Amino acid sequence: MSLPIFNLTGKTALITGGSKGIGLGMAKALGKAGANIVIASRGEEDLQKAAEDIRSFGATVKQKQTDVTDKNNVNDLIDFTVREFGSLDILVNNAGRNIRKKLIDIEEDDWNNVLDTNLKGIFLTGQAAAHQMITQKSGKIINISSIFGRVGGSFQTSYAASKGGINQLTKVWADELSLEGINVNAIAPAYIKTPMTQGWLSDEKRFNEIVDKTMMKRVGELKDLEGPVVFLASEAASYVTGQILYVDGGWTAK
Ligand code: NDP
Repeated sequence: MSLPIFNLTGKTALITGGSKGIGLGMAKALGKAGANIVIASRGEEDLQKAAEDIRSFGATVKQKQTDVTDKNNVNDLIDFTVREFGSLDILVNNAGRNIRKKLIDIEEDDWNNVLDTNLKGIFLTGQAAAHQMITQKSGKIINISSIFGRVGGSFQTSYAASKGGINQLTKVWADELSLEGINVNAIAPAYIKTPMTQGWLSDEKRFNEIVDKTMMKRVGELKDLEGPVVFLASEAASYVTGQILYVDGGWTAK
């Protein structure tokens, strides 16, 4: 990340779901590129550990316990970020979950949980961040989608619905915010090894099926997402908006 165009020094990046998995990986990447980091999620202990991890290589980091499904929590998070660092330049709208069940087995609570976290959470955080970014006349919003916003897959009813929604709102926000100096894009990964996918990927048959669907014949690692998130957060992506960047080893191009 030594090219000046990728340098994020002086920028503030907020990463929801930054205590684990993809969010933590992206927080580290943005911190390494020079950004001040705020991570937010519900579990205080995980947040504490993640903050120490990010700090260990020299990044400045603050953490804030937040449930992204709660509007007051989300508004407090944006206020906290601006109070601590003076601006909100990059939002990685990442907090999410999945409950894999067949259509006929899904309970109403399962549906509500997934849609509330993945879609309502993204909306509330994006809206609150947009208020701040409009006053700054600058900002980058990066929504974390999934290949299941585009392709089909069993056991993904609520998850796929939420991620398809994220793809659409990414394009709408890009249009509405483009003249405010705000770029809005999404990153749509295929399977990445994280706490969320641990159980699913430990089934050998499933693992092999997944690997087989990628052109590159492997599942993704956190490091595969580092370049894409820094790119979209940086001035290198100044003329990129409304895009869904598939980071999927070629899955969706087949
Ligand atoms: P993990 O389960 O490993 O981490 C999820 C993170 O989100 C945790 O920090 C969790 O912390 C936080 N979180 C969950 N619910 C809430 C909430 N209501 N409010 C605030 N924070 C919350 O998931 P991944 O890292 O695997 O996934 C991250 C994102 O990437 C998700 O949006 C997921 O859909 C997407 N994705 C993942 C893929 C994969 O293969 N792993 C592939 C494609 C997309 P806590 O529970 O303490 O709140």
